[in-house]
Amino acid sequence: MLKFTDTPQHYPDTTPAEARKREFDEIYGNFDPAEAAVQAARCSQCGIPFCQIHCPLQNNIPDWLKLTAEGRLEEAYAMSSATNNFPEICGRICPQDKLCEGNCVIEKGFKSVTIGAVEKYITETAFASGWVKPIHVGRESGLSVGIIGAGPAGLAAADMLRRRGHAVHIYDRYDRVGGLMIYGIPNFKLEKHIVLRRHHLLKESGIEFHLNYDVRHLEELREKHDAVLIATGVYKARGIEIPNASLDNIFPAMTYLTASNRKGLGDKVPEFDSGAFNAEGKEVVVIGGGDTAMDCVRTAVRQGAASVTCLYRRDRANMPGSAREVKNAEEEGVQFMWLSAPRAFVGNDRVSQILVQRMRLGAHDAGGRQSVIPIEGESFPLPCDMAIEALGFDAEELPALWSAPELKLSQYGTLAIDQKTFETSLPGVFAAGDIVRGASLVVWAIKDGRDAAEGMHQYMMTTKQRAAA
Ligand code: FAD
Ligand code: SF4
Ligand code: SF4
Repeated sequence: MLKFTDTPQHYPDTTPAEARKREFDEIYGNFDPAEAAVQAARCSQCGIPFCQIHCPLQNNIPDWLKLTAEGRLEEAYAMSSATNNFPEICGRICPQDKLCEGNCVIEKGFKSVTIGAVEKYITETAFASGWVKPIHVGRESGLSVGIIGAGPAGLAAADMLRRRGHAVHIYDRYDRVGGLMIYGIPNFKLEKHIVLRRHHLLKESGIEFHLNYDVRHLEELREKHDAVLIATGVYKARGIEIPNASLDNIFPAMTYLTASNRKGLGDKVPEFDSGAFNAEGKEVVVIGGGDTAMDCVRTAVRQGAASVTCLYRRDRANMPGSAREVKNAEEEGVQFMWLSAPRAFVGNDRVSQILVQRMRLGAHDAGGRQSVIPIEGESFPLPCDMAIEALGFDAEELPALWSAPELKLSQYGTLAIDQKTFETSLPGVFAAGDIVRGASLVVWAIKDGRDAAEGMHQYMMTTKQRAAA
């Protein structure tokens, strides 16, 4: 260990930008055993590991790095999977530069340990070696849970609850398991077979999936199960209120990305085949600065767009998206227009230009973020024949949608829960993931799913004991 002074940081090889622009495959390779051991050995085994503190799952990073450096990979996998249900997914798509790696103490002088890549390596080795097994339930508890939503929050909760011996039923309105990991996040960040592999494992563990099942009445599931988890994510796209926002060829990000992901999965997508959702040959402008915007610009590049521009009203330093994703997009030829906001869409039926307003940063607000102020007289037209709005998501109004007026909301319109138990205002109904937090990250959804599962287990056991008394 402690090799960081004489061993430089090295990530697995990345497909060169020119080649990756023509395909949807993941861009990062995997370490070979020697590289993984050498990179893991750079860790200085900190007494207070800031990497671990800043990992939402509090993964025991220094210990599994040490085990990897020593070639004890089965133990490394046992340790890493003890706190993370899907380490192969987090290793690929966590914004490590903002979480574990961004807080690694050697980052300042020597560049961080490549934690995410090692986590992915450990788990891929575990899969290849047959160490990842379906859950074997010794004794069934006789209790049953219903989980609405097969995204990472619902799947992590299902995994934990099945381990406790409960019968687990997952309901999802989609035809596939994975939530945004399937229909939001593009293949070049997370190949779909990685998600499918987990689906199969959970199915083999005895978890029952009810797909194409759009839950409309909460009561229906409450009657069937001893506890219910709502893990439905947030999907209501935020729009921009500027002139001509209803012109043709202006799309919400998820509409665009879902079509692209479905196409990649081999589905029939008439709107893509007709050319509407296909960026090929078009001058594409993506509005927004988060990870969803980065996924849109990089998808448009791969579809063969004539040009791809990202408009963001703040500057690079204030972008919410991961710096690593911005760099990848730039390498692939995306143009970033910082401090630029759309003022109006221009066109007859279809958008043909965006009138762009130059902005400057102003005073810091209460949350510490700088405000943005339009610069008087500085606007210009930008050619555009496909605009994609990636401005974030809000929660649907679930109480009305599900005829459950007792379901209480937070001030942000997400579901309100007891922070300790994850129970909502309805007894026996719990919630986790984006539907509670607002649009967030897969790693936080996993964390919430795990915590909610514990709350549900405790609730069911207490209720059972009371009934028996
Ligand atoms: P979701 O993943 O949204 O899953 C919710 C599930 O509930 C869906 O399958 C949905 O069909 C189902 N559902 C909803 N309503 C009903 C209903 N009434 N009945 C039945 N089923 C229902 N995070 C990262 O960590 N790294 C990234 O790189 C990253 N990139 C992203 C890119 C995009 C384009 C987007 C949109 C998000 C990205 N995220 C990323 C965020 C991450 O995907 C989410 O935070 C995470 O998936 C939330 O998990 P969840 O389980 O709460 O919800
Ligand atoms: Fe880092 Fe994410 Fe893995 Fe935690 S789960 S160690 S934040 S990559
Ligand atoms: Fe190792 Fe960096 Fe974590 Fe310290 S902060 S334990 S050096 S990975």
